[in-house]
Amino acid sequence: MYSPLNYKPNTKIEKLTVYVMEMAAKNLTDDIKKLALETGAELVGVASAEKLEHESLPGHRPSDILKTSKNVIMLACGRSLNEDRDYVYNWGPDFSLTFISLKDETKWRRKQAKGCIDAVKDFLQQKGFNAVIESHGWTGVLSFKLVAYLAGLGVMGKGNFIVNPKLGPLNVLACIVTDASLECDEPLDVDVCKDCTECIKACKYGAFKKESDRYMWIGDKCRCYDLIMNPVTLKWTYGPCNSKCVHACPIGK
Ligand code: SF4
Ligand code: SF4
Repeated sequence: MYSPLNYKPNTKIEKLTVYVMEMAAKNLTDDIKKLALETGAELVGVASAEKLEHESLPGHRPSDILKTSKNVIMLACGRSLNEDRDYVYNWGPDFSLTFISLKDETKWRRKQAKGCIDAVKDFLQQKGFNAVIESHGWTGVLSFKLVAYLAGLGVMGKGNFIVNPKLGPLNVLACIVTDASLECDEPLDVDVCKDCTECIKACKYGAFKKESDRYMWIGDKCRCYDLIMNPVTLKWTYGPCNSKCVHACPIGK
C-alpha cells in the first residue's frame, strides 16, 4: 500500500501517531468506497495527488484544481452505461446540436452516477475536507486515464483506452480531488490484452500504427467524434466510427 504519510517515524510515540493516522485514513477510505458502491459506482479507487503531480505537466495537476489536494478519488462505471445510448443529435431551439437522445435506462443510470459523485463530495465536505468534482475528462485538466490507472481501476489496453480485467472498457469516469488523507490503491499489474487485437482490427481509419511489438494510437486519424447527417432522416449522428474499437473489446461482454 502507498502510505498517505511521507513522514518516517523514529520513536515509539511517533510510530503510534503514524499508525493512528493511517488507521483513520483507511477507515475514511473504506467509508467512501462503501458509499460510492452503494450509490451507483461499479469501481472506486484512490490515486495519490503527489504521484499525479510528478507524472503530469503543469496545468494538468491536482493542485491546478485544489491547491491543498492530497488524493484523487476515481469512480467508474463499465461499458453498459455508454453503449446503451442512441447516438442521435437533434437541432436545438437555438439551432445548435444540443440534444443527445438517451434511452430511459441510460438516463436513469447516468443520474445515479451523478448522485454517486455528489454523495461522496457531500460526505467529505461534511467531515470538514475540501472536495472538488471533476465530473468528466473533457475539461482537460486531469488525465482521467492516468488517474484511473494509478487508482488501480484498469490498465491501458492496446486500443488506448482503460480496460478493467473484469468490466472491460471503463467508459464513464469521474473524479473528486480532495485534501482528505486516504489510503491509496496501487496500479494493477496485469496484461489484459494478451494476444487480442480486436480493437486494432475494428478501426477502419488507420488510427493505430504498429511500432515493434506495440501499437501506437494516432489521434489525428481517429474519427471518434465526427458528426454526420443521416441523408434520409436529416438527423445528426456520431459517425463514421462510433468508437468501434471500444465496442469490439471482448473483455466484460
Ligand atoms: S474511435 Fe474509431 S477511429 Fe478512433 S481509434 Fe477507435 S475505431 Fe479507430
Ligand atoms: S480489444 Fe483486445 S487488444 Fe483491444 S483493449 Fe480490448 S483486450 Fe486489449
